[in-house]
Amino acid sequence: MSVNHMIANQEKVAAPPAGALFDRFGRRHTDLRVSVTDRCNLRCTYCMPEEVSFRPREELLTYEEIARVVSVATQQGIRTVRLTGGEPLVRTGLARLVRLLVALPLLEEVALTTNGLLLAEQAEELASAGLTRINVSLDSLSPERFVEITRRTGLEQVLAGLSRARQCGFRAIRINAVSVRGLTETEIVPLAEFCRAEGFHLRFIEFMPLDADAAWANESVLTGAAVRQILEETCGPLVPLAVTDSGQPAVDYAYADGSGRVGFINPVSQPFCDRCDRLRLTADGQFQNCLFSQAEWDVRQVIRSGGDDDQVAQLLAACVRAKQAGHGIGTEQFKRPERAMYQIGG
Ligand code: SAM
Ligand code: SF4
Repeated sequence: MSVNHMIANQEKVAAPPAGALFDRFGRRHTDLRVSVTDRCNLRCTYCMPEEVSFRPREELLTYEEIARVVSVATQQGIRTVRLTGGEPLVRTGLARLVRLLVALPLLEEVALTTNGLLLAEQAEELASAGLTRINVSLDSLSPERFVEITRRTGLEQVLAGLSRARQCGFRAIRINAVSVRGLTETEIVPLAEFCRAEGFHLRFIEFMPLDADAAWANESVLTGAAVRQILEETCGPLVPLAVTDSGQPAVDYAYADGSGRVGFINPVSQPFCDRCDRLRLTADGQFQNCLFSQAEWDVRQVIRSGGDDDQVAQLLAACVRAKQAGHGIGTEQFKRPERAMYQIGG
């Protein structure tokens, strides 16, 4: 390649904005996970307690407040947002928030993580609001095991939600399945076969110490390697795929016969903290720099006391500067965060 070509190509790579969200370890942050509620219509054992009291509604950021915070974050280099919860679809009028976010000129993608129960009824509105991507969490195709894991019925609704989402034009729909030793082994092959047949991209996620019941133990993690072994025994060898997006925590594999692929997100056995580009905004308006962060930065207080956009930006920059090198699961220093997964936003 000639020098002129190299210079031309370098010019095409957009320079990071001034004040971009670099932390002390040189990681640049471009992805914001936005939780819109701590409420949920399931009670997954690895996430929520059986009995739960939710935050009062006035503590949650309004959609306008969320859009304002995201707008400021985009000035600092945030380019993708994923809406999550609790269950984001239980919050009334989520499509309105999607529209507010899609209108932000610097934002490139607005995605959603959902348990899928309310997806059939909302997919069309979400698609026309401009939602880019959907991940659906589903751990089992057996109605009995679904109830055992989620403490609620609803498998049929999730399946209906998946097909409706596809009819509404969503492509590259992902299915996320949490892997818990002694609970999900039997679900692996049926899920994989279903996803291959239906063209969904399945990803297995290791169980993390974020369950409200604090039952997590190292031995309860069904590692990605163990899941892969179970899969290979039935489906044949899996072929690793080249990493196309360095910010993606998943390691993807193709089935040897070329039909479909499957991914593994291994935060416990193979932490990817060194590549982490994520920040979080909780439903009650706290910035967090990690799922396992012990600290939080109160942006709700800043905006509700009349703070300007510069103050919001400074708070987010401070949150990023304080980010630790890694989560430290498995080390002596590791401390579980006070919040469980549904209170942070996965
Ligand atoms: N309710 C929505 C759902 O289930 O997709 C969005 C929120 S949920 C907290 C986001 C993701 O976190 C889901 O894929 C869920 O399976 C995952 N998750 C919850 N608790 C987890 C845990 N302790 N370890 C690993 N993943 C967990
Ligand atoms: Fe609800 Fe999602 Fe947590 Fe399950 S994982 S209890 S669906 S927030």
